[in-house]
Amino acid sequence: MPKKISGQARLPPQVKKLKSYKRYNGLGSCRCNYVTLLTVVTLSMMIDPPNDEHFMREALRQAQKAYDASEVPVGAVVVRSGEIIARASNQVGLLKDATAHAEMLALTEAEAAVGDWRLTDCDLYVTKEPCPMCAGALVHTRIRRLVFGCTDSSAGAAGSVMNLLRMPTLNHRCDVASGVLQDECAAILQSFFRKLRDQETELREDDR
Ligand SMILES: [Zn+2]
Repeated sequence: MPKKISGQARLPPQVKKLKSYKRYNGLGSCRCNYVTLLTVVTLSMMIDPPNDEHFMREALRQAQKAYDASEVPVGAVVVRSGEIIARASNQVGLLKDATAHAEMLALTEAEAAVGDWRLTDCDLYVTKEPCPMCAGALVHTRIRRLVFGCTDSSAGAAGSVMNLLRMPTLNHRCDVASGVLQDECAAILQSFFRKLRDQETELREDDR
């Protein structure tokens, strides 16, 4: 399950409501209802879990595309009403454009799909924590929710180094969830940079 950094309370409102009812009512018979409801809610979440992993898998497929093109493997998708409306991989090298991060390209594609620069009912899934540029773009486009895989301890702008998505002075804040398929999201990056180091070592050895 994703680690919630911020956002709404963890318990569904009906459970919270029943909990408070039990507290004020003080009747033992209520315990049965509470346990039953909690079981139903838990089971329903197990049967129909949030689609975060499903959408992150598609973001990972985009990251793999970047990997195959010798780009830093980061992928992103934008979801609206349960459907992917934009998908992109990092293309900085291909486009010779430092702003061509997966998130930026996915946001532009989503704006075209929606026909508006405001993406207030859209969620963005990305394999790695966004950098300051992309986090800023998420604020500008009014993205509702950000879900990312692995953290970026050196440049992450969604909680690791800074959190531009929850800045009280900015005119938009969005919910943030992290850790969705984080091992796979981190592994593809580690594999990419390991391969890069190996290739550099081989080149140096060839030069001798
Ligand atoms: Zn970025």
